[in-house]
Amino acid sequence: MTYCFAPPSVSAVPVAGSNLLFPVHRIYCVGKNYAAHVREMGSDPSREPPCFFLKPADAIVLDSVMSYPPGTNNLHYEGELVLAIGKGGADIEPDEASGHIFGYALGLDMTRRDLQTHAGKLGQPWDTGKAFDESAPLSPITPVEQCGLLERGSIRLWVNSQLRQEADISQLIWSCNEIISQLSRLYTLVPGDLVFTGTPAGVGPVEVGDEIRLEIHRLGQLHLKIGKNS
Ligand code: MN
Repeated sequence: MTYCFAPPSVSAVPVAGSNLLFPVHRIYCVGKNYAAHVREMGSDPSREPPCFFLKPADAIVLDSVMSYPPGTNNLHYEGELVLAIGKGGADIEPDEASGHIFGYALGLDMTRRDLQTHAGKLGQPWDTGKAFDESAPLSPITPVEQCGLLERGSIRLWVNSQLRQEADISQLIWSCNEIISQLSRLYTLVPGDLVFTGTPAGVGPVEVGDEIRLEIHRLGQLHLKIGKNS
């Protein structure tokens, strides 16, 4: 048997400080994981089970530009710490979860907020709002051996040099270890999975020409410009 056409290439992310590529399996995302952001979205930040959704692996953008997507008039940035899973498993205990982390990246959970909000009101899935082409700009992955385990440290995002998001990773409602544990009770994690851990307060719209800069303690910065819809 042979493929009826060439299979798509593997989505892969450079590993900082090496010539290795991290092949991406799935992109999991956590919603509503900083209390101040939960409040700004009009919800109650009491500790409910984490809300998970997915993006396709080929939504990753490694360039410094993403195209303004079709179908929206309200494209939002969400700056997030991203976990790269290097060891798979199911039913992982929180105190064993850090051993499954290969490294970390800076990520933008780009969101067609108008479509997400509309779907939410109708009780429909979020996919068109969250899981679209180029919806996951990402930095190279820094291995844990280089940066250590990230349990605290600043996360900040600027649009055109104006500070819009500022928080500390220690303010995550569900910590990285708890996220891995909870996810692994719903899905078997495999090496190559990425997990967007949620965004702090201060989300907002961007327009064509805007420049986003995300900075996370020990991970450096991610720069992204919003380009015209190609
Ligand atoms: Mn998000």
